[in-house]
Amino acid sequence: MSDYINGRLSRRHFLAATAGASLIAVHPFSARAAAGQAHLRIMETTDLHVHVFPYDYYADKPRDTVGLARSASHIKSIRDEATNSMLVDNGDFLQGNPMGDYIAYERGMKDGDMHPGITAMNAVGFDASTLGNHEFNYGLDFLMKSLAGADFPVVSANVVKEMGGTPTADQTLLKPYVILDRMVTDGAGEAHAIKVGLIGFVPPQIMNWDRKHLEGNVQARDILETARAYVPEMKEAGADIIIALS
Ligand SMILES: [Zn+2]
Repeated sequence: MSDYINGRLSRRHFLAATAGASLIAVHPFSARAAAGQAHLRIMETTDLHVHVFPYDYYADKPRDTVGLARSASHIKSIRDEATNSMLVDNGDFLQGNPMGDYIAYERGMKDGDMHPGITAMNAVGFDASTLGNHEFNYGLDFLMKSLAGADFPVVSANVVKEMGGTPTADQTLLKPYVILDRMVTDGAGEAHAIKVGLIGFVPPQIMNWDRKHLEGNVQARDILETARAYVPEMKEAGADIIIALS
């Protein structure tokens, strides 16, 4: 590929150059990008498990090692120091502590209700998330009502409502992937448009772990088979970088 298109650095080369630059001795996130070069800092949370506040509901006392509320301050400081950043989540956000069980079994989710874990994620501001295996623990109806309140896309490529002949012909439960248009600012202060593809995968073992909720409703595809089918489609659709959430 030629390095320049119409006198400008091509997107792919531009991102490859950025990746290479992260190998230099200076800490990659503090290194100042050159003109025509941009650093994109990608933050990821995982296994939030309904830990919104730094509180241990089992012990009924504050615990300062958990909670998105605490992570939020780290996320803010990273956003402040990084010229370009994104925040993604890896799934397992709806289940895992007594508040999760309370919402699922006591309060319930009616149409239009907000799940507190989703409310917290909206407040922090995520670019995208995917489903973890625990998202299926309370059934599909609860899951879909919870996701309805999310301000960010939740992608999952291998949970399928209707199998097609190939993964890309499947009717998936959620969007298999998204391609987000983002702007990144280079070291000279010039903004460049990039397309960031995000795709999600869940362990196919959900079909055993949550058989009572899933059997007859959805099926799960092998992760590699699914990735091999979708990634070329995402590149074809213009994704400059592809992030797999799993
Ligand atoms: Zn987990």
